[in-house]
Amino acid sequence: MARISPAERFAAKATPGPVPAGLATPCQLWPEASLDRDGYGRFWIDGRYVPAHRYAYEQTRGPIPAGLELDHLCTVRRCVANDHLDPVDHRTNVLRSNGPAAVNARRTKCKADHDLTDPANVHVSFPPSHPNGMRKCRACAHDRARRTREPQLAPVATLPTRTTPERTAA
Ligand SMILES: [Zn+2]
Ligand SMILES: [Zn+2]
Repeated sequence: MARISPAERFAAKATPGPVPAGLATPCQLWPEASLDRDGYGRFWIDGRYVPAHRYAYEQTRGPIPAGLELDHLCTVRRCVANDHLDPVDHRTNVLRSNGPAAVNARRTKCKADHDLTDPANVHVSFPPSHPNGMRKCRACAHDRARRTREPQLAPVATLPTRTTPERTAA
């Protein structure tokens, strides 16, 4: 049997995932079993593990400029789609990780001050637009449902506008 190349081995590991919002192509997901402690894929090559997304980028788009980090535009750490990776400096990477999506994922309270650290109060779903999972506050959902069940009050009748007597010219 012919020896399979690292590129073939690599390609066989990734499976297409959902297309994240704002991107044109699906994520290429590295198997859960081959992730590092931080959730990034790792690929065995030349007797050592390398980060799978960095390998994907360098194989297809060339060397990552010195000092730059690869930011996952899709925010899916185990994604190795080279077009979901953007080389940025560390500062940009940190700033982006303080963006609305990232901040939301770290929030401990919802807008109504309910606890988002309590797993019983948090509903996590995985719609195609949020392959990393989307968190929803159950207490808020409950409140919303109750409000819509409550009978709506009849609109208050508007008072007739007072008419000012027309001043007659002398
Ligand atoms: Zn991706
Ligand atoms: Zn809430």
